[in-house]
Amino acid sequence: MNPLFPRFSLLHQETPVHPLPRFAQKIGVANCWIKRDDLIPVGLGGNKVRKLEFLLGDALAKGCDLVITGGSPQSNHARLTAACAAKAGLETWLCFAGRTQGVFQGNLLLDQLFGAKCFVTGVYGSEALLKEMNRLAEEAKHQGRNPYVIPVGGSTPVGDYGYVIAWQEWERQQSEYQLPPIDEIYLAVGTGGTLAGLIVGQALSATQHSRLIGISVWLSREEATNEVKRFSFELFHKLGKREEISWDKVEIFDQYIGKKYGVPSKEGLEAIRLLAQTEGILVDPIYTGKALAGLIDQAKQRDLRDKHILFWHTGGTPAVFTHASSFEQR
Ligand SMILES: *Cc1c(COP(=O)(O)O)cnc(C)c1O
Repeated sequence: MNPLFPRFSLLHQETPVHPLPRFAQKIGVANCWIKRDDLIPVGLGGNKVRKLEFLLGDALAKGCDLVITGGSPQSNHARLTAACAAKAGLETWLCFAGRTQGVFQGNLLLDQLFGAKCFVTGVYGSEALLKEMNRLAEEAKHQGRNPYVIPVGGSTPVGDYGYVIAWQEWERQQSEYQLPPIDEIYLAVGTGGTLAGLIVGQALSATQHSRLIGISVWLSREEATNEVKRFSFELFHKLGKREEISWDKVEIFDQYIGKKYGVPSKEGLEAIRLLAQTEGILVDPIYTGKALAGLIDQAKQRDLRDKHILFWHTGGTPAVFTHASSFEQR
């Protein structure tokens, strides 16, 4: 327990790690394992819960009674904030980008079930959304509330610390299951906080052998790299540690975004079907399907036949239903 990071426990246990033998054979890698953060047992799971353990821990330590966050109307982070805050006994207000909420399905439907109050802001972009959240927070204060504002994606040094802890969990599992050294770890990158947490986690550990490969689903390679570096430095600073990161062990790709963020790609949809039909596991069209498409393509482009790979599943499965029509068109 780190006194800098009060924790509101949401995971209760480690997320499973297991091999994907039929998938690995199909894509031509020696061994592929998966880390199942999609199975975190609250609100249908996903990476944001690990961040929320510490964000809500911070909110509770500060005596807050209301959490304000936002994103797109189909944001996984918004849904999981609503679910986790409900468990913590806190109210949730969600600020959505854009002028309409769109289809009442997937995450938006779940937000309502978890009791969140939703606001359509008419603005676009993380910074403009944060302004709206802060404006609502001021209103809430006038009503005598004590709000806690969480930026888009929950990427702050406090939230990202959840993935330092996740790295430690993964290392324990690696030695418990006597896994061989993992050559490459693949994951989806949105705002970049999850990757930053893993980078810091690995940098603080004695064994540093895995290449961390972030598949951006939103930002260009350059933008995503800058964000991941900034979040990593901020986290090191908060931890009071000297930063020692081997950046040559980190790679970010942006060629798997497809048309743009939030729009399914052909390769992503194919990756979803491949994993579903070889392993009975679902990834989603907006984040994890595109990340998996990145892994599949890398296995084609480079020779990974003797490599040990981990795919870190960050969740997002409700989006499968929101994008039902993308699957129908084929
Ligand atoms: C938010 C999210 C990510 C990306 O996490 P960041 O910390 O924003 O990079 C990846 N996968 C899923 C399913 C997500 O919801």
